[in-house]
Formats: sequence, C-alpha cells, structure tokens
Amino acid sequence: MKVPYNYLPQQFSDNTILFEKWSELIASSEYTLGPYVENFEQKFAEYVGARFAIATNNGTDSLILALRSLRLDPGFEAIVPANTFYASAGAIVAAGGIPVFCDVDNRYQLDIESLHNLIGPKTKVILPVHWAGASPNMDQVIELANEKGLFVVEDACMGIGGSVLGKHPGTHGIIGAFSMHPLKSLNVIGDGGICVTDDPEVYSWMARYRNHGMRNRDEIEIFGVNMRIQPLQAVVAMLEMDKLDSILEQRRQNAALYDQCLQPIEAIKVPKREPWNLETFSLYMVLAEKRDLLVEHLNKRDIEVKIHYPIPLHKQVASKVHGLRNEKLQVVEDQAGKLVTIPVHQFLTREQLDYVIYEINEFYKAH
Ligand SMILES: *Cc1c(COP(=O)(O)O)cnc(C)c1O
Repeated sequence: MKVPYNYLPQQFSDNTILFEKWSELIASSEYTLGPYVENFEQKFAEYVGARFAIATNNGTDSLILALRSLRLDPGFEAIVPANTFYASAGAIVAAGGIPVFCDVDNRYQLDIESLHNLIGPKTKVILPVHWAGASPNMDQVIELANEKGLFVVEDACMGIGGSVLGKHPGTHGIIGAFSMHPLKSLNVIGDGGICVTDDPEVYSWMARYRNHGMRNRDEIEIFGVNMRIQPLQAVVAMLEMDKLDSILEQRRQNAALYDQCLQPIEAIKVPKREPWNLETFSLYMVLAEKRDLLVEHLNKRDIEVKIHYPIPLHKQVASKVHGLRNEKLQVVEDQAGKLVTIPVHQFLTREQLDYVIYEINEFYKAH
C-alpha cells in the first residue's frame, strides 16, 4: 500500500468552479490587486478575527513586510525558535535584523524560559512560530513582551484555522504572518501569503510598502516593493476557505488516531496536546528512537515520511556566515535527531492510517 505525503492532485481534482471564477477574473482584467484581492482580504480578516489583512506573494514576504512595518533601526535582535522553517529567520535578516535562536519545549514550541533568558538590550522583537500548526502559550509570550516593551510578530504560516487560548494564531501580537504555500492548511495553487493586524497605522504602512509605497498613481511616500498576491491565487484562496474547517476536522481526526495508537509504543514520544490549543496539523510529528532506521523502514514500505528538520537553524552554515549566536540549545538539538513527520492529510483512508501504525509497530518489534 502506498501512503503518499503529497495530496495536492486529489485536493484540486475538480476545478469546475475555479475555472469559472478564473474566467470571470480574466474577463475583468483585474490582474493586480483590485476587488478579487480585497474580497479575499476581507473574508480572511473576518475569519481570523482581525481588523485588517494584507495579502502578499508568500509567507516569507508576509514576515518581511510585518517586520519592516515596525521600522526598527538595522541590527535589532529578534528572538525566534531554532526549530522552524528557514524563512522565519531569513525574514529577520531580510528586514535588517539579527535572529537570536531560542530553545523549545516538548511540544516543539518556543520555550518561555529560554526566551526570557535571551532578551537583551538589542532585543526588539519576539517572533513566535506556530510550529507544525500547534502554538506556544501566547498569553505568556504577550505578557513577557509587554513587560519588556517588545513587539510580537507571529509566524502563523502553518496556523490558519487553528485556535490558541480562544484566539486565532496570528492575532495575539501586533502582526500575524501567514503562508498559503501548497503544503499549508489554507493552500493555493502556487504561492500566496497574508498579514493581519488590528493597528490602522501598521496596516496602512504595509498596504503602501507592498505596492511600491504608492499613495496614488503619481505619488509615493516611501520606497516600497512589489509583494502583491496574484489575484488568480486570491480566487483559489477564497474558494479553499470554504473547505478549510472540514479539511482541518479530518486532519485532527487522523492525528487523534495516531496519538492514541502511537502513545503505547515506548520508543515513540507523542507531544502533549493542550486543551487551549486547537492545532491545524500542518505537520504530524513525533519523537522516535532509532529515527533514521525507522524512516528508512517506512520509506521502503511506501510510507512517505519526512524530517522537519534534521539541522536546527543555529547549526546551519548560514548562521555561521552571519556570525549568529550559537549557544547550546539542548531540547532543539535532542529533538533534531528524533523528529519524524508522518503523513496526516485529509485524503488518507482508514486502511492507510492503520498501515502506517502497523508498520511502526512492526519496526519496533524487530528493533
Ligand atoms: C511555510 C513557512 C514559511 C514560509 O512561507 P512561504 O509561503 O513558503 O514563503 C515561514 N514560516 C513557517 C513556519 C512556515 O511553515
């Protein structure tokens, strides 16, 4: 039996409505920004419970746009977990900042104590990541940020459709940044991203910076860039939003089955699920003993598993090149040798899920 990681051909197998909407868009010649983008921004802002939304090219641009909108002096430090996708740190560098990597807890989320210890005189930003679609305790992050006078910019790229402490990921700090990359919970057919904020000034700066700093066709107030979302993708996002909650419900059911069946295996550690955090399961990750052998075993049996990621950010060559701080981060480093990501997507059948569980059990019987 094959258990593929990629589910996109299935998700986009019936495109009748999409092609209708695209035909309408093509006929309208609204090819840059315009009503299709605005409608999506409005719908997204309502969905997450934010005042304003600005749609962008991709999640990385959303993070860069968010950080730039704070207009900090170059060389500011931003604290970010070391076990995230490259872009969380890359965006900080692109915005003129210096990433400072912090450790994580046993849910793979930013560790409050490590965060606390790393705050120094140059720290201006905390960049919590809603990693894998789970969330750190955002009340604690916000409380610490307020006490120290720091901005919180949330990397909620994997968090669309989740909930943490009664609010949507990305709506706790001053700005939340999201991705609509094909492998995120709300996905488009290519790249897309979006930022949200409740702050009208931040919103209006982001709106201008995204579009060359233009106030109108003839006047610019700042030198901006082009980070505009493609209206073609805004149309996809609009349609996919209607399916989002049912997609997530299916992924949560799959994850619950994995949790229940993998917990009894001594060599596997399933992360704690918190009642205050409704996860999106963009990734389903556990810690596994003999991880590399397990990965080999599963891949040989046509179960496509992945590792997110084997090398933490502070251990990457890029961090050396930039002369970033490189203290030991015990938990992140231990986890990097044990993490494994198992397919959890909404198109898996019960037979496929049972097969994955069976093969993991078989592996540990033999090892
Ligand atoms: C995907 C992702 C990004 C980058 O988003 P893109 O749309 O691929 O640019 C940034 N941070 C995290 C945590 C992500 O998962």
